[in-house]
Amino acid sequence: MDLVELTRLPLAVWVPLAALLGLVLGSFAGVVVYRLPRRLLGEQGLGLCFPASHCTTCQHPLRWWHNLPVFSYLWLRGRCAFCNAPIGLSNLWLELVFAALWAGCVLHLGPGREALVWGGFFSVLVVLCFIDAQTMFLPDVLTLPLALAGCVLALAGWTGVDALSACLGAGLGWGLLAGVAWLFERWRGLPAMGGGDPKLMAALGAWLGWPALLPLVLFASVVHLAYALVLTGGRRQQEVPFGPALAVAAAFYWICRDQPWMSLLTGGLSAPLG
Ligand SMILES: [Zn+2]
Repeated sequence: MDLVELTRLPLAVWVPLAALLGLVLGSFAGVVVYRLPRRLLGEQGLGLCFPASHCTTCQHPLRWWHNLPVFSYLWLRGRCAFCNAPIGLSNLWLELVFAALWAGCVLHLGPGREALVWGGFFSVLVVLCFIDAQTMFLPDVLTLPLALAGCVLALAGWTGVDALSACLGAGLGWGLLAGVAWLFERWRGLPAMGGGDPKLMAALGAWLGWPALLPLVLFASVVHLAYALVLTGGRRQQEVPFGPALAVAAAFYWICRDQPWMSLLTGGLSAPLG
């Protein structure tokens, strides 16, 4: 059976397979979310593959059956097998979100290149979302390659966005948020957002095209406001990261991009994606 024949298997086979792939990738994403920011902040001896998985409380190395996505969490009832310390819910959420996003991409786009390309895009976004929510920063090693990939894949015709729109989207997206941040800083004397937000916006502009920028800012502002209210209960002491709001806005835009009302927000300029 060759590759072309494989893609003709029914979705009832492909969607569960995609969900399974999502679980495995989500499990690795948990490692990236935990280790990458710590590594970038200078913690020694922490690579993405070494040392082997261990409990973050008692440092005991984990057996392979403690590392199975979702299953291990349920089987261990959310506690370390060695020291009984509670395991954070973050990894379980990541695995479930990844499973849903890969199953969703295959269901929506069919098995093939498109599902891989967009599944990859949203996977990096979810990782950024979790890192920003936990550490308030968006690593350049993820945002900048994501922006570059958006431009290159648009040039190759793999994202359905034309190359000019992608490059304009990256440039304008960065400029828009960097400009707002600069103005806010001059006005209030406080940093308005993290330095990573304009770079994430550049990546979204590259992947979704420049007409997406206005709706993205609009949706992200609404999500950010709602998120801030839930997180702080209306008190204004706590800083609330903007990255997760941008990621949710991007997913919402992508899902609704062909709706007739979306063209009101993009001025009828959005090129059909994917
Ligand atoms: Zn432990």
